[in-house]
Amino acid sequence: MKALVKRYAEPGLWMEEVPMPQVGVNDVLIKVTKAAICGTDLHMYKWDEWSQSHCTPPYIMGHEFVGVAVEVGPGVRGVKVGDRVTAEGHIVCGTCRNCRRGMGHVCENSLSVGIFGKDGAFAEYVTIPESNIVHIRPEIPDDFAAIMDPFGNATHTALAFPLLGEDVLITGAGLIGTMAAGICRYAGAKNIVVTDLNEQRLEIAKKMGATITVNGSKGETVEGAMKQLGIRGFDVGLEMSGAPAAFNDMIAHMYKGANIAQLGILPSNTKVNWSDIIFNALTIKGITGRRMWETWYQMEQMLVGGLDLSPVITHRFHFDDFQKGFDIMSKGQCGKVLLEW
Ligand code: ZN
Repeated sequence: MKALVKRYAEPGLWMEEVPMPQVGVNDVLIKVTKAAICGTDLHMYKWDEWSQSHCTPPYIMGHEFVGVAVEVGPGVRGVKVGDRVTAEGHIVCGTCRNCRRGMGHVCENSLSVGIFGKDGAFAEYVTIPESNIVHIRPEIPDDFAAIMDPFGNATHTALAFPLLGEDVLITGAGLIGTMAAGICRYAGAKNIVVTDLNEQRLEIAKKMGATITVNGSKGETVEGAMKQLGIRGFDVGLEMSGAPAAFNDMIAHMYKGANIAQLGILPSNTKVNWSDIIFNALTIKGITGRRMWETWYQMEQMLVGGLDLSPVITHRFHFDDFQKGFDIMSKGQCGKVLLEW
């Protein structure tokens, strides 16, 4: 089969003819129809410091995908040939302390499809253990099913705290931030303010349901948005940028007793205004992965209920043109980029 292989420990990605994956006792063989390029894929493509310390070539990349089951191992009970499926990309051990208490997203021994320990879905076929398979309801189009992995990060973050009637500040209008704006709207938030430095991304945030967008590069400020809305602070903060300035801007504009869900990866030397956090009694919760499987049930319900993710998908290419997709991702002037067979 054809696959996009991270063959060498250097920048790049290579389309190769590779053997079909072995289907284990509990595995489902999936014919991939669509996949999406994640920011993590871009890190591995560029072979940055993070990739060098986390990944071991050669391996097939890709963890955001949708496809059809074409073969099942003899131990598989709940998946049939022909089922339309996607998968949770973190394969957990099921036996560590956290797994056994229902917290698989913080498993001690997890493997990551297409990143480490398990070949990925930038290929004509991929195998996934039945435990990680997610069936797709017929109402959910392939385009949305292919991006349920990052939609899950957005959902896990956005729904970390109650939203109904709350004023929300989202810092960072990348893919996850723009999807989070849609989730906040769906979940009944009152006002949703989204900040970024990129107007194209903020336009997508508006389409997804942002009340006001704030473009710092145009001199717009969070105070200005608060004044317009007549509010004294935000009840919920979703930090999606990993930018120290955005983080501290958020800390400075939260209402007393407010909650922040932190998904952006801040540099370890970020200077933090601790006294605002302490004296305003803020709660900051770190977010990783997707809760298994509550996040997936929440995503399914929002998509069936009409949450439209189409504004975040901006480019589509055939797998053979993967280079174009990675070039556009590198420039950052895009939302989600899909690759199709
Ligand atoms: Zn575990």
